[in-house]
Amino acid sequence: MKTVMKTRQKVRRGVLIASLALFPVTFYWLSPAVPLQGAAEGVLAGSLIVFGLLFLQSLLFGRLFCGWACPAGGLQELTALVRARRVNRRRINWIKYLVWLPWLATVVFLFIRAGGVKQVDPFYRTWHGISVADWQGAITALIVLVVLFIPAIAVGRRATCHTLCWMAPFMILGRWIRDQFAWPSLRLAVKKERCTACGQCTEACPMSIGVTDLVQRGRLESTDCILCGSCVDTCPRRVIRYSFSKGK
Ligand code: SF4
Ligand code: SF4
Repeated sequence: MKTVMKTRQKVRRGVLIASLALFPVTFYWLSPAVPLQGAAEGVLAGSLIVFGLLFLQSLLFGRLFCGWACPAGGLQELTALVRARRVNRRRINWIKYLVWLPWLATVVFLFIRAGGVKQVDPFYRTWHGISVADWQGAITALIVLVVLFIPAIAVGRRATCHTLCWMAPFMILGRWIRDQFAWPSLRLAVKKERCTACGQCTEACPMSIGVTDLVQRGRLESTDCILCGSCVDTCPRRVIRYSFSKGK
């Protein structure tokens, strides 16, 4: 069983690193700048469509994308090999809303100024869907990677997710709506009576969540949870498992 668990984390990290390697292709599909450029011309660009899809998937799968497929997640999990310090989430989590809210308001404003959505163009600013098609694009992608790298190396584990990510709030909103309606979705279920409070799950969590405390309370729910399964696969007592359920 343990071998299977370790394999799952190897697969997850492999997918994240593959996603990072594909960043030159997917860059504009995840970019916060492209929707601004598009909105100024009344064009609904591909990345805004992707953000809408991330919101929709979060209604059932929470932040699974962050844990399993995000290229910035791959970059940060590689960074954690040299900088694995846990972060103080309370202190830094608010920063991403300081980025997201003005950005979203600007997108809306630019669409209104352009007279609304005149065109839907999923391939906007890409070359046949590929983001980096010349050296200027390559330099821009490199600069963005450096910007995404800095919080993780300076502050600690996945600090970019906590502070800069413009995609996370869409999925946090989706999780919140899911919880209001309490429909079945992918979650973590716990059997707290099995827990010995060894703390290994907390130590393993890439999002610096106090997993042991939540397990002790019998409910493992956090807006920061990216459903990576590191706690599931680390726990020697099999206290935590994936579950598709309504939660408590
Ligand atoms: S690793 Fe398992 S046993 Fe240890 S604190 Fe976490 S849930 Fe409890
Ligand atoms: S609580 Fe578990 S699944 Fe959620 S981010 Fe932490 S380690 Fe991953």
